Amino acid sequence: MTLTVDTLTTWMSKFAEKVETNKQFLSDLDTPIGDGDHGFNMDRGMKAVEEKLATKPADVTSGFKIIAMALISTVGGASGPLYGTAFLEMAKKSTTTNDIGELLDAALAGIEMRGGAKPGDKTMVDVWNALVPDVKNGTLTENRITEAVAATKDMIARKGRASYLGERSKGHVDPGSQSSGYLFEALLETEGL
Ligand code: ADP
Ligand code: MG
Ligand code: MG
Repeated sequence: MTLTVDTLTTWMSKFAEKVETNKQFLSDLDTPIGDGDHGFNMDRGMKAVEEKLATKPADVTSGFKIIAMALISTVGGASGPLYGTAFLEMAKKSTTTNDIGELLDAALAGIEMRGGAKPGDKTMVDVWNALVPDVKNGTLTENRITEAVAATKDMIARKGRASYLGERSKGHVDPGSQSSGYLFEALLETEGL
């Protein structure tokens, strides 16, 4: 499926809406295994993205760049640079293809490179790693997203703040994985993608 400026904008506004609705829940997930700010960080970032996208970007590449810059400058913490990198990598990739699967592949590679996390480390990488192949195969469903997010619950964190807790990070869903779940849900709900 090919991303356009219109589908990119729709995807982002659906994501912003989910983050806003669930900001307290995301921060609550971040409380036992982090510093309780993930939902507030992401909501601030997505509000900035929405403001910037109110002026229609000239093309997909500039749209991705605008999103990346807004996230990097407003989200902060660990997740800001990571989401920012994901969108910057999609900006770069979009100069050669607008295929959503290929764009997301580039984004995941960027997140892994930037944060050094591997699948199983209880980070957003787990959700991206599980779901990007689904996007490419056309098998992404609400249920697959729920499963991918829930799978982080019993993992032991090896990256980010949650890793300070070691074994005690077990039994809690990773907040960044939950917000990434919303990003994929928003994608699933974007018609034409
Ligand atoms: P902070 O931990 O700085 O307060 P946030 O609370 O906004 O930042 O984001 C925490 C989320 O960031 C985690 O739940 C995890 O998914 C993600 N994260 C943290 N470190 C890494 C990393 N090295 N690689 C990938 N994702 C990471
Ligand atoms: Mg936090
Ligand atoms: Mg923080």
